Amino acid sequence: MPDTEGFVRAAHVLGAGGLVSFPTETVYGLGADARQDAAVARIFEAKQRPTFNPLIVHVADIDAAKRYVIWTDLADRLATAFWPGPLTLVLPLRQDAGLSPLVTADLPTLAIRVPAHPVAQRLLAEFDGPVAAPSANPSGKISPTQAQHVIDGLTGRIEAVVDGGACGVGVESTILGLGDAPTLLRPGGLPQEALEIALGGPLATRSEADPLTAPGQMLSHYAPGATVRLNATETSDHERLLGFGNVEGATLNLSPAADLVEAAANLFLHLHALDAQSDAPIAVSPVPDIGLGRAINDRLRRAAAPRDH
Ligand code: AMP
Ligand code: MG
Repeated sequence: MPDTEGFVRAAHVLGAGGLVSFPTETVYGLGADARQDAAVARIFEAKQRPTFNPLIVHVADIDAAKRYVIWTDLADRLATAFWPGPLTLVLPLRQDAGLSPLVTADLPTLAIRVPAHPVAQRLLAEFDGPVAAPSANPSGKISPTQAQHVIDGLTGRIEAVVDGGACGVGVESTILGLGDAPTLLRPGGLPQEALEIALGGPLATRSEADPLTAPGQMLSHYAPGATVRLNATETSDHERLLGFGNVEGATLNLSPAADLVEAAANLFLHLHALDAQSDAPIAVSPVPDIGLGRAINDRLRRAAAPRDH
């Protein structure tokens, strides 16, 4: 945990329009003052992120969120249950929000969340403003779950990294659209089942074919240099196995005990390690599609998707 002076300096860099990477419980974020066009533009430049892909705004608490989105009873119920935590709510943007239009890619809605990580909380309290923060990795590459991953991917493009150790959850937030019906826009660190219990019924899920409800959910993403093959129950000689559960011959194992929470925390960590090791193809053991397994499988499918570069 950085000292008080470290937080003051990091908040100052944000206020001056700089880019500060900081840990959240999901992955490391790349933060900028969401009200400053030039600062937000630098996020897209540093990540080489397409500008039609909107950003999530991070705020300190529910009261802060209400300044930027039109709040509803349902938003209040979910935020009270799950914030701070790995849930992003997409709500109508307030006309007087004062955010850079680059944040929302000009959409009439805003994705917003309150992160739980103590370092993120301290930084947001010190900065006292909205922080736009996507994951702190070059666009399309593996998300960072340690400060070193951020340094490896973005050195020379950002002003600072606040080091808060490894991220506990390890996959990005669950994104829930709160339009007509609550809709799961991206599976993530809060299991769908937990949301369904809170909502008292099944969630609608986004259709892959609907770019309007989920802008920027590119198929190829989180990609290591090597090719990735999913649901591998056996491997060939040249492949490296990223195991799950009690499997033999794994180069690395997401969770030998088949624990999905542990597997989520290890997912990007192990992909980074395999990426640093060689370009030999990666085969991945099947991961059950329940709880955090849905987010893990979503990220693995994107890591395995055909690349456009
Ligand atoms: P990242 O910050 O890299 O985790 O990506 C944020 C993701 O949030 C984007 O790729 C979008 O899919 C989603 N998102 C952000 N803003 C909105 C919005 N207004 N409506 C729907 N999805 C959004
Ligand atoms: Mg990302």
